[in-house]
Amino acid sequence: MNIKNNIQNIRQNLPSTSQLIAVSKTHPVDVVKAAYEAGQRVFGENKVQEMINKYEALPKDIEWHMIGHLQRNKVKYIASFVTLIHAVDSMKLLEEINKQGEKIGRVIRCLIQVHIATEETKFGFSPEEVLSLLQNNALPQLSHVQIEGLMGMATFTDDVAQVRKEFRALKSLFDTLRQVNLGPHVKMHELSMGMSSDYLIAAEEGSTMVRIGSAIFGSRNYQ
Ligand SMILES: *Cc1c(COP(=O)(O)O)cnc(C)c1O
Repeated sequence: MNIKNNIQNIRQNLPSTSQLIAVSKTHPVDVVKAAYEAGQRVFGENKVQEMINKYEALPKDIEWHMIGHLQRNKVKYIASFVTLIHAVDSMKLLEEINKQGEKIGRVIRCLIQVHIATEETKFGFSPEEVLSLLQNNALPQLSHVQIEGLMGMATFTDDVAQVRKEFRALKSLFDTLRQVNLGPHVKMHELSMGMSSDYLIAAEEGSTMVRIGSAIFGSRNYQ
């Protein structure tokens, strides 16, 4: 694995409007360090403890993005340093993020996870639910969260047309929401979509952030 080459290749394929989030989950600190030394400064993790360990061990100019499902009782452990929480999937989670942000005087940036794939999942809002969440009267009171946009994952399939259709639907929802005045605490400007297998399609469909793991670090070994 030549991490530096992988990062350079991906960057060359990405439009400048799409930010690369290097998904370092399961990879040890020295591997993440190699990506850091190749100039990468934004990393995504999906487990709280693992993200804390890497945050503590690695340089402090790294941005840490929580990309996975986040349990409410764990928000407090990352509130002080997380740069962006990608997968907010309930109002209760948003309230907890706000509570922890308030405690430490920090406004925490979040994306709302939208369920676009055909696969069954318990996580994420349906496209219909997103607007009602964003128009929820309780939302403006959450002064320590800032909603920056949407996040989604396409169906795990080789069917490129299917994947493109799902990304296009998410972009269309994003564009629709951008037309709605949702108040100062909602800024619809980030669209996190695309992983190793589908990031080129996602970029073509208007993604502003791609979350790429295996195409940088190789396949993961889950124990
Ligand atoms: C693991 C993960 C990724 C990266 O997946 P790759 O296929 O290795 O690029 C992206 N997004 C989320 C939410 C993930 O959990």
